[in-house]
Amino acid sequence: MASLYLKNLAKTYPGGVTAVRDFSLEIKDQEFLILVGPSGCGKTTVLRMIAGLEEISAGELYIDDRPVNDVAAKDRNIAMVFQNYALYPHLSVYDNMAFGLTLRKMPKAEIRKNVQEAARILALEDLLERKPKELSGGQRQRVALGRAIVRKPEVFLMDEPLSNLDAQLRTQMRIEIAKLHKNLQTTFVYVTHDQTEAMTMGTRIVVMKDGLIQQIDSPQSIYDHPVNMFVAGFLGSPGMNFLEVLMIEQKGCIFAKLADALLLVPAAGGQTLKEQGYLDRKVVLGIRAEHLCGSGDFLDRHPECALRGRLEFSELRGAETYHYVRIDGREVVVRVSPELRAETGQEVRVGFNMSKAHFFDQESGVNII
Ligand code: ATP
Repeated sequence: MASLYLKNLAKTYPGGVTAVRDFSLEIKDQEFLILVGPSGCGKTTVLRMIAGLEEISAGELYIDDRPVNDVAAKDRNIAMVFQNYALYPHLSVYDNMAFGLTLRKMPKAEIRKNVQEAARILALEDLLERKPKELSGGQRQRVALGRAIVRKPEVFLMDEPLSNLDAQLRTQMRIEIAKLHKNLQTTFVYVTHDQTEAMTMGTRIVVMKDGLIQQIDSPQSIYDHPVNMFVAGFLGSPGMNFLEVLMIEQKGCIFAKLADALLLVPAAGGQTLKEQGYLDRKVVLGIRAEHLCGSGDFLDRHPECALRGRLEFSELRGAETYHYVRIDGREVVVRVSPELRAETGQEVRVGFNMSKAHFFDQESGVNII
């Protein structure tokens, strides 16, 4: 059992850089929590404070209700897996995995049992005699995981463990780590700046920017209901489209005016925008590529929700195609069926599914509805 409670944690480095501010979070036992955000936003600093590798400047850290600010790293029963694996090159896989246990003077028989069990979980049984240089990147990463597993820690911390692997191996290891979490039934805190890892691996995501938490929720909730433009743009591939629109009211309905088109805003959302004083003001309309369309029923049924633009580029991804279309001076990305044929430079129509649109305040970037 291990839950973590971070209460108003802050870290200011000796040079005066405040890397993390007012960071409060409860991590439940057996949760797979992802910290995600752009480079330099403070993810590693949070992880290192949890591990006890970095002193906490302000705030409190609890493991299972026990305050641990002043508990040494080695006494926290936490294991950390690093980006660069940090394996000992002169030791075999077995000895790399056994190293920490030997230091703790665990009996040899017990060490063997733990290492073999970890090797079985990670499919390393046939590689135990090899040296790290005789392994592939994925195998090395598994050894690094193995070294953490043998200690049977209550909490696993992982700092971008897949960033040195090629794309195919990353996908494979993503699944392996998610399975590992199910198998071990322990608490995982995982740092990444890769939004695909964030979306697919964890039970909850914490999105960070400039040392501050922007949003904490399940991957799907964050994807569907981002609290601000930063989160909306950061999670999802391709990123959300943002377009400046003017909110107007005509005959009791609320519209978003874009170029010379009027896009009807669904009643409830329109009402909120009106009540919050956004009529006759510009806001940012946010819409994902899959909620725009280039053909089919939707365009036929809702010609009023379609705009004309020019196709600048088509990106074929196999199961789907993305069209990059210039509308009103802005490029938007539209997910279309691979069967839809269009030439670069051609005029195309783009349908807006307004029930999926977001509206952001231009200055604060906050999601209004
Ligand atoms: P990345 O994804 O690039 O690893 P990150 O989100 O993990 O970034 P941190 O490594 O936590 O970010 O760094 C947060 C901020 O603190 C950055 O501005 C960084 O330059 C600064 N920082 C990190 N370590 C130190 C240090 N030891 N001394 C001074 N400043 C530091």
